[in-house]
Amino acid sequence: PLILGIESTCDETGAALVRGRELLGDVVATSMDEYARFGGIIPEIASRAHLESFLPTLDAALERAGVTLSDVDAIAVSAGPGLIGSLTVGVSAAKALAASLGKPVYGVNHVIGHIAVDELIDGPVPEHFIGLIVSGGHSSLLDIHDLATDVVELGATLDDAAGEAFDKVGRLLGLPYPGGPHVDRLSQEGDVEAIRFPRGLAAAKDRERHRYDFSFSGLKTAVARYVESLADAGQEVPAADVCAAFSEAVNDSLTAKAVQACKDTGCDTLVIGGGFSANSRLRALAVQRCEEAGITLRLPPLKYCTDNGAQIAALGAAAVRAGVAPSPMDFAPDSGMPLDVPVAR
Ligand code: ATP
Ligand code: MG
Ligand code: FE
Repeated sequence: PLILGIESTCDETGAALVRGRELLGDVVATSMDEYARFGGIIPEIASRAHLESFLPTLDAALERAGVTLSDVDAIAVSAGPGLIGSLTVGVSAAKALAASLGKPVYGVNHVIGHIAVDELIDGPVPEHFIGLIVSGGHSSLLDIHDLATDVVELGATLDDAAGEAFDKVGRLLGLPYPGGPHVDRLSQEGDVEAIRFPRGLAAAKDRERHRYDFSFSGLKTAVARYVESLADAGQEVPAADVCAAFSEAVNDSLTAKAVQACKDTGCDTLVIGGGFSANSRLRALAVQRCEEAGITLRLPPLKYCTDNGAQIAALGAAAVRAGVAPSPMDFAPDSGMPLDVPVAR
């Protein structure tokens, strides 16, 4: 079956066509450039941008795939989590298309889509594997038996997500929004050993209870204090070293716990997804630690790490394959959609 995937959770409007696990066409428009001068996303502007971009993006994806709307067998759309105004544009459009074409609609979980997209690149996922979601809004470890029917959240960040922490440190150092990629670039020029920042949840009392959880806000505060103390003393801030040491602390926690989760559950495969998986140190450390532990690492190319329609079509295709019932026509977008709900019911 031919699945149309529609993405509109945040500031990217995406449309993609997938048949089985083959990606036929994938187009993304973003309103990210609008937010640099505000230092953060403005939901009202994002919603309006989705309205303006939706039809051109859909048409471009259909053209690239060489298909027409009448060829589409089912429609998948991000039902959440995300900004409610952005979600509403995509969900309304998907329902309108489904009603006019007489085809089923699947309201799928955007975050699980970040993992599902890997099937389009590396083929079918194994029967049981661990997913590490790292993005602007999430840092979670998932125990996955089936992308569309059986996802259990083992742990998550107790405060900031990895990308969010990077963006905050970027702001602290006066780097442009979003700071994540800038902090990543600077970190590659710095000395990891120059400063030692704390790892969250490393205290003995937290080690078992928060075995699969993350915490990055204490680290972010430690970075802020370090930068302030130098500034107060009239000393120059070694920005590259700060970025390198900070990045090391975040990625040490992420990769150590992901490998631990694989060992504990007996999984030999780790799939990483989400915008933060573009991070160079995460990728290097994950490759190294998975190799040491005999774990197969699946890491989508950068293009499929950030938000796109392909991830939504991929999860829609997995739902159709698993025989999951389509979402009822009156399903609502859910800004806080839980990670153990792959398809809205
Ligand atoms: P969610 O998927 O949880 O709803 P989101 O869709 O906003 O969140 P993504 O688009 O998946 O998030 O990821 C964006 C985040 O990734 C931003 O915080 C951005 O700074 C961060 N990011 C992107 N590239 C890098 C990088 N190379 N290093 C660090 N952070 C990065
Ligand atoms: Mg985005
Ligand atoms: Fe995302």
